[in-house]
Amino acid sequence: MAKREEWQLELGRNVTRSEDLDRIIALSDDEKTAIAELSDAYPMKITRHYLSLLDPGDPNDPLRRLVVPSPLELRHRPGEDEDDVHADEAQYQPCPGIIHRYPGKLLLIPTLACPAHCRYCFRKGRKVSHLSQDESEEALEYIRGNESIRDVIITGGEPLMLTDEELFYWVSSIRAIPHVEIIRITTRTPIYLPSRITDELVGMLAEHAPMFVIVSFAHPREIVPDVERALGRLADAGIVLLQQGPILRGINDDAQVLKEMYEKLASLRVLPYYAIWGICAPGAEHFLVDGHEAAEIIGSLENRTSGFCVPHLITIARGDKVRMMGWSPDGERLHLARRDRPSASAPAQVHARPETHHK
Ligand code: SF4
Repeated sequence: MAKREEWQLELGRNVTRSEDLDRIIALSDDEKTAIAELSDAYPMKITRHYLSLLDPGDPNDPLRRLVVPSPLELRHRPGEDEDDVHADEAQYQPCPGIIHRYPGKLLLIPTLACPAHCRYCFRKGRKVSHLSQDESEEALEYIRGNESIRDVIITGGEPLMLTDEELFYWVSSIRAIPHVEIIRITTRTPIYLPSRITDELVGMLAEHAPMFVIVSFAHPREIVPDVERALGRLADAGIVLLQQGPILRGINDDAQVLKEMYEKLASLRVLPYYAIWGICAPGAEHFLVDGHEAAEIIGSLENRTSGFCVPHLITIARGDKVRMMGWSPDGERLHLARRDRPSASAPAQVHARPETHHK
C-alpha cells in the first residue's frame, strides 16, 4: 500500500464527532442536536487546521457558523425542493461527471469528496463518489469530441482531494486535447487543508499551464500564514489565482469585512473575480442576504479600494450566470445583466429568487 502523505494523515484526524468538538469549543445543546440530526443528511466534518482558527469563546464566530451544524439547518423553506440545483444541472449532463451548460466551457466533476463540509454548500446531501475508470474515459471522450470547448473547469466536491496521480491523469489528459486552452480548478482546500499544497502538486499543475486555481474564501480570518504560504507557492509557479465566493449573512455581509479580505488576497496575488449572491441550499436560508443589500455592499467598495479588489457581483437566474449591476442606495435601479450566454436578450429584474451556484 502506498505511503500516505502528510495531508492525507491530517484528513484522518478530522473532527466529525460531537463529543470531540465539544471538548474544543463547548457546543450548545442546540448545536449538539443539529449535529446528531444532520449526521446522515449532511454530517459535520472539520479539519484540525480550520478548527484552530475558530474562536472558542464566541458562539457567533463566523468561522464557527461556516462549519458547525446549526439548528437553523433543520428548518426548510416551502418550495425549496422545486429549486433543486441538481435536477437543473441534470439537463446539461451528457455523461457522468460533465455539466455542459455554456458554449466554450464545461464543468468536470471527478469527485464529490471534500476536506470539510461547508454548511452553506449547495452540493450538500450528495453522496461522495468518484468517477469510475470507464466514466472518466467517457468524460474525456466527450471533451475530445467537442472542439468548441476551450475552458475546462475541474470542480467537485473538491478536485484537490484526488491524489497527485489521479489529478495528473486528469490534467495531463485534458492538456493533451488541442482545443482546450485553459484548465481551471475550483477549490476551498487551500483554506481547509493548506498542507495539501505540496511542492509536488504545485510542480505538476505548473507543468500543465495555463492553469487557473479559483479559491473560495469566505472571511479574512481564513487567511493565516500557512494559507498565505500555500497561495504563495501556487503564485510563484505561475498559476493564476482568482477568488470567487458567496456573500453570506452573518459571515461576510459587511463591506469592511469584504474589503479587508479582498485587499489581503490581492496582496497575495489572488484577484477577486466573482462575489456570488443567492446561496440558498436546502436548510441554508439563514445564510441568504437580500439581493439589494448584497449589491449595495459590493457597490460601496467602488472608490474605496483598488479597482481590481472589487469583484463582479453575480447570481444564477433561470439557469444563466448573470452579473448584477446598476446598484443604488434605494435599490430601485438594481438589474441583472446577462453575461455568459451571448444569445441571451434583455436584462431582467432581480426579484425572482435565484438558484445557487458558486463554482
Ligand atoms: S464549498 Fe467546496 S469544500 Fe465546501 S462543501 Fe462545497 S464543495 Fe465541499
